[in-house]
Amino acid sequence: MVENHKVYDVMIIGGGTTGLFTAFYCGMRGMTTKLIESGSQLGGKVRQFLPEKLIYDIGGIPQITGDDLVHQMEEQASKNQPTIIHNQWIETITKNEDALFSLVSTEGIVHQAKTVIVATGTGRFDPVKFKLEDCALYEQKSLHYTISNLEQFSGKRVMVSSNNRVGIEWALTLEDIAEKVYLVNSKKTFQHATDLELHRLYESSVTVTLDSHIAHLHGENGWLEKVITKSNHQTEESIEVDHLLVYNGLKMNPAPFDSWDLKTESNKVVVDHHMATNIKGIFAAGDATSYPGKTMLIASGYTEGLTAANSAKAYLEPKAPAQVYSTVIYR
Ligand SMILES: Cc1cc2nc3c(=O)[nH]c(=O)nc-3n(C[C@H](O)[C@H](O)[C@H](O)COP(=O)(O)OP(=O)(O)OC[C@H]3O[C@@H](n4cnc5c(N)ncnc54)[C@H](O)[C@@H]3O)c2cc1C
Repeated sequence: MVENHKVYDVMIIGGGTTGLFTAFYCGMRGMTTKLIESGSQLGGKVRQFLPEKLIYDIGGIPQITGDDLVHQMEEQASKNQPTIIHNQWIETITKNEDALFSLVSTEGIVHQAKTVIVATGTGRFDPVKFKLEDCALYEQKSLHYTISNLEQFSGKRVMVSSNNRVGIEWALTLEDIAEKVYLVNSKKTFQHATDLELHRLYESSVTVTLDSHIAHLHGENGWLEKVITKSNHQTEESIEVDHLLVYNGLKMNPAPFDSWDLKTESNKVVVDHHMATNIKGIFAAGDATSYPGKTMLIASGYTEGLTAANSAKAYLEPKAPAQVYSTVIYR
């Protein structure tokens, strides 16, 4: 076990959009804050599922890509310099006799705080990875499990491997950016694709190969040079490719709410209108929560996050003002 001796006012679990905004707001309330994220990147589902898609329902921002929103939120969160930890999955939470919480990650690192805000969503989604030998060699550079940073595909030959409508969406997004796009599907049909999507695909310049899978990858220093596909009739084809995008579905790692002794409903944490859970000193916000009328939206996480932060403040200092009435004082 590695113990961190500094005791924070607030420990936020989860660095999605809710956790980031909550970290910012905890700073506004003058609380020392640590945020722990299980992944290497912040932004949660927005960064994972919508990095290049436009989001239209954030107040005051007519449209913004997921990546740009997360960048702006990181900048906003950093205003009050919270401590941000990456790549640690919180496994256990214990309330000690002195009412401090000890949070322990799977890596055996102990974090301590006076209050906790759960902003984990329902957990972490990991892409189902390719099982091909050597594919790990390409993962940092030319093999991708999500479509982000579109510029890297500009003028390149890109292959998408998927039997899902997500693959169609990626291929069509790349059509105007890449030099050439191939879509390889190991099945004869695309799961969940609408007739309109299929029509757009077959009208496009994307070369679609059905009933065929990727058999080998060839390249050097992490950069792909060609991909060997094999049809289900055993015919092999060698295709020159710079990047390969794979969508084989997602695997959910649920946040361990039960082992944290939190009351749940449909695998989400039950909260009251203060965002308080059944454990005094633990609050929750965002997609992790359940209450009547809950909406699963980015903006809902913002309001819930600031309510949770205000509740944590009231728990620590019952005489503190209920909220920051104006942020103009921070200019
Ligand atoms: C395809 C899709 C499209 C969407 N489109 C929109 C839209 O247009 N507009 C809109 O408002 N909303 C949209 N949403 C919903 C929106 O993405 C969510 O409401 C929002 O991302 C929730 O943010 P969150 O921070 O609460 O949770 P998440 O984004 O799920 O973040 C939770 C974070 O916690 C981390 N975590 C989990 N467990 C642990 C643990 N034990 N230890 C450490 N870290 C942990 C995870 O790794 C993750 O980074 C969409 C969702 C999807 C899937």
